[in-house]
Amino acid sequence: MRVITVVSALALLAASPALSAPDKSGDGEAAFRVLFKELVESNTQPSNGDCTVAAQRMLNHLKAAGYSDSDAHVFFTPDRPKEGGLVAVLKGTDTKSKGVLLLAHIDVVEAKREDWTRDPITLFEENGQFYARGVADDKGQAAIFTDLMVRFKTEGYKPRRTVRLALTCGEETEGMFNGAKWLTEEHKDWIDADFALNEGAFGKLDDNGKRVTLDIEAAEKVYQDFTFEATNTGGHSSRPRPDNAITDMTVALNRLAAFEFPVMLNDATRGYFRQMAKIEGGENGAAMVNIIADPNDKVADALLSKSPMWHAMLRTTCVATMIEGGHAVNALPQSVKANVNCRIFPGTPVETVRQALIAAVGDAKVSVTAFGTPSPATPAPKLGRDILGPIEAAAAEVYPGVPVVPTMETGASDGIYTTAAGIPTYGLYGFFVGEDEGNIHGLNEHVGVQSLMEGRRFTYKLVKMYLDRK
Ligand SMILES: [Zn+2]
Repeated sequence: MRVITVVSALALLAASPALSAPDKSGDGEAAFRVLFKELVESNTQPSNGDCTVAAQRMLNHLKAAGYSDSDAHVFFTPDRPKEGGLVAVLKGTDTKSKGVLLLAHIDVVEAKREDWTRDPITLFEENGQFYARGVADDKGQAAIFTDLMVRFKTEGYKPRRTVRLALTCGEETEGMFNGAKWLTEEHKDWIDADFALNEGAFGKLDDNGKRVTLDIEAAEKVYQDFTFEATNTGGHSSRPRPDNAITDMTVALNRLAAFEFPVMLNDATRGYFRQMAKIEGGENGAAMVNIIADPNDKVADALLSKSPMWHAMLRTTCVATMIEGGHAVNALPQSVKANVNCRIFPGTPVETVRQALIAAVGDAKVSVTAFGTPSPATPAPKLGRDILGPIEAAAAEVYPGVPVVPTMETGASDGIYTTAAGIPTYGLYGFFVGEDEGNIHGLNEHVGVQSLMEGRRFTYKLVKMYLDRK
């Protein structure tokens, strides 16, 4: 595919009256608010939105701060003109380091005005919350990253390491042009970095709004469906035989239910259980310590696996989610199909999982096939002190006393593409949300005003620490 670098036409079209001039109020919160509002109020829904316009508006801020055409530009492909994004770079003095990539998506999940209490594409500030589609996922972070690039430039900051920004479209909606994937395939030079920060894990607030943990996502499970199929010649149900496709499938699914994948650990889950052991304490805490020491500890596994979340963090899981079979109430079934949804521990090939399922089913009459394009089997990135140290240091300043907890998410983000392309990607929004996770993808999405401002402070400090490090 060909890429177009837009400069003038869209700039006029999307010109915004309020650009972020450096303000006198200290850390530029007023300018950030302008930028954030502008991004949130740029409609980027799949049905009638335009990511390219949103990207252009963010580019205007970067240009006003002094980025040249070669250091910041909008990109899109001719066949998907409204699904563009933006890349920018502030070069560091250390030419040996590839630096840090700040990756955020600017598309959002569809939001219907009639379902929401307030217009979802207007930024409302009420009760200490910002309300609008995308405020938490992921325009809050996209605005924080863009604002940070603006500030670095206007402050005359000369980083030791290079910092790159990529705002992309198509993360939320299957079938849209995925900017992050496209960049890894077509223009890795625009985003190449030693590692990337991306969306992923939020800090957690309890019911009283008190900070509990600052999470960092350092691994993502891999989504994969399998089709189980049992076939039979069928016949008249008045003359049943022992062989029966529904019975075969029943046995197969019961065997699947009884089957467990072995316990696996990576840096993310090891870090998670190490930190959670301190927070949980008691029997569960001890079991967490034991499972890190010995993944084959069956007692610890059994205890922890009573929690569906911990069970899922310890292994690949596969579960039957849909079934269809038979064709008439008075006929022996000819075909039964079941969908088995797997969440694969990162780094495990899809074929390895398929073979394990075949062995668990143990019946040649039930076939097991992977559904759709198999996902990449990229191991989770390493989570060493080089990544974690600065997060803990920035958290100690902005969120004193709050433990940093690595996690492995069961969902997926664009991090799968950048990690697979050799840019280890870590997910942290850097701000805190409550139990409802800001109702992202749902109604009345929101984020605390103070939370977002603190996230902005935290991210600014964190990124500077990464960039200044020897
Ligand atoms: Zn997102």
